[in-house]
Amino acid sequence: MLTFSSLGIRKGYIKSINELGIKIPSEIQEKAIPILLRDKTDFIGLAQTGTGKTAAFGLPILHKINVKSNKIQALILSPTRELVQQIKRQLFKFTKYSEERIFVEAVYGGEHIGLQINNLKRTTHIVVATPGRLVDLIERGDIDIRSVQTVVLDEADEMLSMGFKEELNKILSATKKGDRSTWLFSATMPDEIKRIVKVYMHPDAPRIEVNKGSSVNGNIKHQYVRTTIKDKTDHIVAFLDKRESQRGIIFCRTKAGTQSLCTQLIEKGFSTGALEGDMQQREREKVMRAFKNKSLQYLVSTDVSARGIDVKDLEFVIHHQLPEKLEYYTHRSGRTARGGRSGISIAFILPIEVEKIHYIQKKLNIKFKEVDI
Ligand code: AMP
Repeated sequence: MLTFSSLGIRKGYIKSINELGIKIPSEIQEKAIPILLRDKTDFIGLAQTGTGKTAAFGLPILHKINVKSNKIQALILSPTRELVQQIKRQLFKFTKYSEERIFVEAVYGGEHIGLQINNLKRTTHIVVATPGRLVDLIERGDIDIRSVQTVVLDEADEMLSMGFKEELNKILSATKKGDRSTWLFSATMPDEIKRIVKVYMHPDAPRIEVNKGSSVNGNIKHQYVRTTIKDKTDHIVAFLDKRESQRGIIFCRTKAGTQSLCTQLIEKGFSTGALEGDMQQREREKVMRAFKNKSLQYLVSTDVSARGIDVKDLEFVIHHQLPEKLEYYTHRSGRTARGGRSGISIAFILPIEVEKIHYIQKKLNIKFKEVDI
């Protein structure tokens, strides 16, 4: 059996990841780490969230930092502020037992830029950023990225679908000089990503794919329940009642729908918080913290707000409505069954939506089972 040590990971890091429950390398880690620890290489990783991507690129990046220099040596780009904060936290935890002090900063929209500029004035080796905020900082001349050796594009397909195409081009052009490496991670490979690969990456970049043939984590059980508009909330309540001790996220399509369902669940005595884009950043962080530390059992959220968030041990994801876009199904269901566990992704649909279930099955190469509540 492969170990992190045999992949080339240093002892100090192994001790800290073991404490986080990361003991046996996941598929993406097993395949990517030996390549990324090499001197210089571009890299393409086809993997969805929940597969251990952060450690797969994060550990090699930490190994490459030269702490004798106080320059920014690595950039990690990720689509949402929640993901950026999560990656920063993970990297910080990985360094708990390392002898060298490596400094990581997170920059993202929604927080005062002055504060982030001040933080960047301290020694910073790794910057984790949303593309928009990073471009702001580059254009203002408030970040020096001339020494960057490695650029990671995490969830590249998501960054593009959120409209960050121009920003990515700007960042990749600005860092293109010299021999920096680009590591691209994506769950899917739409044409726009292929173009980025072609323009900015080495033609022979190694390419690794996990969970071949499906962009959906194989540990997820997919189910659907036929219901009506009138009965839907009651059916969801019955589902939650049956799984008293379990935790999960309920996805809604709209911000108003999210708030309304959250209020209804609270009124029925369920410990629930809402997360949607119209809420203040501080409020969103408060809800996320409460959900992560288990003072909230359920989260009701829109697609964008809960994208990519990593909360351990969620037993289920509920689709109050099926998502607008196919790829959202992959991202929603990927909130459960993380780190090798299993989980349920259950959709509450109207009878006319069975067609949509068939479509998702076919497109994502997964199987749904109809269940009764
Ligand atoms: P990620 O895909 O990086 O967001 O990781 C998803 C979750 O899996 C995180 O909570 C990680 O701590 C956990 N994880 C990552 N790698 C492993 C591993 N090799 N074994 C068990 N859990 C892991």
